[in-house]
This record gives sequence, structure tokens and C-alpha cells, in this order.
Amino acid sequence: MTRARTGDQALIREINLSIILNALRDHPPLSRAALALATGLNKTTVSSLVEQLINASFVTETGVGKNFTGRPGILLQLNPHAGAIIGAEIGVDFISVVLTDFAARVIWRHQERTDRREQQPAILRHTMANIGAAIKQANAHGLPILGLALGVPGLVDVESGTLLYAPNLHWENVPLRQMLRARFDLPVFVDNEASIAAFGETYFGVARGARNVLYVSAGVGIGGGIVMDGRIYPGGSGFAGEVGHMTLEPNGLPCACGNHGCWETLASQSALFRRIQECIAAGEPSMLARLASPGQNGKREQLTLPGVVRAAQEGDAVARRALFDTGKYLGIGLANLVNALNPEMVVFGGILSLAKEFLMPVIQQTISERALRWSWQSAQMVAAAYGSDACVMGSVAMVYDQILRQPFHAVRASRPVSRAAAPVNRLLPSAAALAR
Ligand SMILES: [Zn+2]
Repeated sequence: MTRARTGDQALIREINLSIILNALRDHPPLSRAALALATGLNKTTVSSLVEQLINASFVTETGVGKNFTGRPGILLQLNPHAGAIIGAEIGVDFISVVLTDFAARVIWRHQERTDRREQQPAILRHTMANIGAAIKQANAHGLPILGLALGVPGLVDVESGTLLYAPNLHWENVPLRQMLRARFDLPVFVDNEASIAAFGETYFGVARGARNVLYVSAGVGIGGGIVMDGRIYPGGSGFAGEVGHMTLEPNGLPCACGNHGCWETLASQSALFRRIQECIAAGEPSMLARLASPGQNGKREQLTLPGVVRAAQEGDAVARRALFDTGKYLGIGLANLVNALNPEMVVFGGILSLAKEFLMPVIQQTISERALRWSWQSAQMVAAAYGSDACVMGSVAMVYDQILRQPFHAVRASRPVSRAAAPVNRLLPSAAALAR
């Protein structure tokens, strides 16, 4: 009996701490009196909880001022110096790592291109080295590391943090979380890059406050993340959102997943580059010709997205047509998804979003031509706030959210909360999520 009651009290305390932290995230700065009003907790409880949060460095006093109640008081906010968070992504052809403070401001970042032919141990070694460099930076700033999250382009078993299958990397069954924890001894979360990015855009970015969001990330492949009624929709086994592998062309090109004519064979960065290379091989003039033709060593992987965008801005017809055709196929796939999901927001991210000035108009035109008017008319299409950083910032959001839900457990947590239970943009976290 006594043990159960103690457990209940600890749980209630954790829920209340979480409510205070989330109120300070949503409406900073607030006085203790305003916090009591905003949360419905009594003033004595608020004062005691705030004391604990100040002692743990999660909350700081910012001086005297007026908040929404109009009365002057000592104002409180989340402490940007509470600690540092590491967000990381292993892409198909790059590794990206950011270090942020507790206000999600980037303190340090590093991105490097990788060669797709590089072997798994080499890519993992680089990733570990970059995370190690981020930790050094945090130490130099005197900030403890609060957690680390990693996004990967494939199917992930979130509970164990194992990458089950990444078609474009040709990786299978990589126990990433176990490997990272063995090396760094930090709370580690691993998830699919597009689901993480969808979470980040809903938590910090362009879709903050939206309840039903479709996030699509286009890079070497195409990934998707679905936010349904304010939560990441995981599907039956946690693999929802693999939109890049829906078939759009029955007799299309082979895809890395083994199927033919998948959406990503038609609308990814690889598809864009292929279109440019085909035009150039057919003898069409283009300022990209030198880059897209096989050089002395036979390599033709010199095309970059910023280079293609620059060429299109300078009026290069090949670049413009390839972007138009790729945008058209992005629009066709999105029209299908809009019909299926009726999202209130469609967020477009990944490296292709760097070409949004050329892609967005044709994508929107195609969706409006092909989707059911009723499914599309209430939707808003926007480019990701964090562009190609959407996944690393989403990784930061995952750690951040975990801390705001379980402030005194998060730092020691060894087990991630499943996506199914992750509330987005809610003042009150679900009791089920907190009880895990
Ligand atoms: Zn496929």
C-alpha cells in the first residue's frame, strides 16, 4: 500500500513538473502566480515545484516584469544553459550533427558528405567522431549533455533503437542505439529521419500547433512522417510513412527496395540528377554538362543540388525542365497522399526543399489539378522551417520533449518513449506516456 502511494506521488510530481515546464515553453516568461493560473495548480505547489526546477537548472528567473496577468512579479523561463542536446542524422550521402542549448539554439554544427560506396564501419566511425566533437564543444561551453537523438533513412525498431532496413544505404539490422550508448553513455533515441523531422516541424517549426500534418522529405530517397491528431502516427509496427516506396509506375525503374517504379525513382534528388544526365547525354546544351558527363575517371557524381538551383536561376533550360518534371512527380505522389490523409498542412523538407522556388509552384499546381478539391482546399503547403536541417532539429526536439515530460528521469533514461505515446504541442502530456 505504502509503496503504491509513494509511486503515485512520484508520478503526480513528475506530471506537475512537466506541466510547469510545458507552460514555460508555450508562454514564456511567466511569474509563479501566472503559472498557477495557467496550470490550475495551487500557488504553494507551484512555488515548491519551481524551486526544484530552479535547483535542477531547468528553470531560471529573468528579473521582475509583467506577464499576461498584468501584475509585476519575478518572471521565470526555461534556462537556455540547462544543458546541451545533440541532434544527428546519417543520410544516404551525408552525416549531419548539431549541438544546441536548452533553448534549441544551435551552438555548433558539422555536416559532411559521404560516399555512398563507403562501408558501414567507416560511416559509423565518422558519425561517432562527429558526435564526439559535439560533446567536446558542449564541454568547452560548460554544458552537460542532456541527450542525443539520431535519424536514419530506413525502418527503425524504436524500442531497441535498431535500424532494421535502409534500402539506399544497403544496411540491415544495425543496433545503433546500443552502439551509441556503449560509446557515449548518454540517453539515446533512434528513429526514422522523416518521422523525426515531422516531429521537429510540429514541435518547433512551421507546423507548430497543427494537429494533422504530412511531412515529406525528398533527398536521395523520399521519406514521410505523419502527424495525426497531434501525434506521430507510428502504424502497427512503427513503420508508417514509407511513402517513397508506393508504386507510381508499374513498369518503372528498379528501386533500391527491390520494387519497380517507386515514387522515389521519379521524384527524388537521384531522379532529378538522372533527368539532367539524360538530357546532357542526348546532346542538349547546359552549363551543367561538364559536371554531369563522365570525367576522366568515369565518375559522374559531381552534380549537387545547390549547383542545379544556381543553373536554374541563371536560366539553364535543362536544369529548369528537370526541376519541373521532378516537381510534377512530387505533386502526383502528394496528391495521392492528400486524398488518403486530408492533412491540414503538408510540409516539404529534405535537400530538395533547397530548390523550393522552382519546385513548390509546380507541386502546388499538380496537387490542385489531381487531388480531390475537398481534401486539398483546407490544406496549406509549406517548406520545412529547418529545410535540410529538419531531421537534426527534430532529433533535438525529441530529446527536448522527453525532458519536458519527465525532467528528472529523462537525463538518466535508457529507454525511449515510443512514438505512439509522444504528445506534440500539448500542455498536458498523457498519463500513459508519463507512466511508462
Ligand atoms: Zn522502393
